[in-house]
Order: sequence, then C-alpha cells, then structure tokens
Amino acid sequence: MVKLQCKDYGFECNFSVEGNDLSKIINDFGKHTEEEHGIEYSKESIMQFILRKGQ
Ligand SMILES: [Zn+2]
Repeated sequence: MVKLQCKDYGFECNFSVEGNDLSKIINDFGKHTEEEHGIEYSKESIMQFILRKGQ
C-alpha cells in the first residue's frame, strides 16, 4: 500500500491519500495540492514521491 501525506512535503496540512491504485493516488494528491496549495505537481513528480517512499 502507498500513502502520501501533505505534511511529508512541507505543507501544514493533514490531508493524505492511501491505497493500492497508483493512478488514483496521483490524481487525488495532485488535485489536492493544486486546489488547496496552488502547487501543481506533474504526475511524474508525484510518481517520484511514491517511488522514493518505497526505498
Ligand atoms: Zn494539503
């Protein structure tokens, strides 16, 4: 399972997404950071977050 939390990326925010559906996690996290924080991460960037967490 993958979990991404906003606070791991420097945001003072309790938002997190988790699950096994990577495309859903990428979409949900990207949508949240764009709408709530005004930062638009590319899908590739979010994939890198996920890959780094797995190491
Ligand atoms: Zn957030």
